[in-house]
Amino acid sequence: MNSFKGKLIVFSAPSGSGKTTIVRHLLRQESLGLEFSISATSREPRGEEVDGKDYYFISAEEFKKKIKSNEFLEWEEVYIDNFYGTLQKEISRIWAKGKHVIFDIDVAGGLRIKKKFPDQTLAVFIKPPDINELIIRLKERGEESPEKIAMRVAKAPTEMATAPQFDTIILNDDLKTAIDEAEKLVNDFLKA
Ligand code: ADP
Ligand code: 5GP
Repeated sequence: MNSFKGKLIVFSAPSGSGKTTIVRHLLRQESLGLEFSISATSREPRGEEVDGKDYYFISAEEFKKKIKSNEFLEWEEVYIDNFYGTLQKEISRIWAKGKHVIFDIDVAGGLRIKKKFPDQTLAVFIKPPDINELIIRLKERGEESPEKIAMRVAKAPTEMATAPQFDTIILNDDLKTAIDEAEKLVNDFLKA
């Protein structure tokens, strides 16, 4: 009999906080048995991103069709005209492989997943030291125009205000400390 009970690990934060860096580290820890939930998005690929690995890059029209046909577990227009969403079939695909699902999604989407699967989900908020540091990190990441960076930073204060609604908050000041904390939390949650 298959006794596997799939869990969901959500990492949310304002853009530039470091959640992708932390999630990628956790995915490399094979003993955790995690697989990344590949979201669909209507935004353009950035940097080295690969379709079907980092995101399913689709047009806004296709995205809206999928909303109509109820294919999303959750979706958000995170920035104007930039849609992002988790496809229902993504979760079934990963659980069918006997893996736990890890998400890198915005705060509203993260809280929605927690609400839908309260006991199976660990929802983690990654907190940057302050907004100035976010700006520095986004500039250093060097993948977007100043306008796109400004759009991301403008949203950060409202996103920061949602932190207390998460199961736990990790401060990402020193990256190594934040990664160690994340790894321990996830390991404990998956073992419980
Ligand atoms: P997010 O996924 O939250 O948008 P990223 O993981 O892409 O954030 O991180 C944004 C940038 O900040 C990246 O260039 C990353 O290497 C860098 N970064 C992440 N954590 C830290 C940290 N603790 N100190 C300095 N830079 C960091
Ligand atoms: P980025 O453009 O930097 O990849 O992502 C922008 C924001 O959208 C980030 O906060 C990211 O976590 C979030 N995001 C990515 N995928 C999803 C998703 O499937 N659903 C929701 N709600 N947000 C997502």
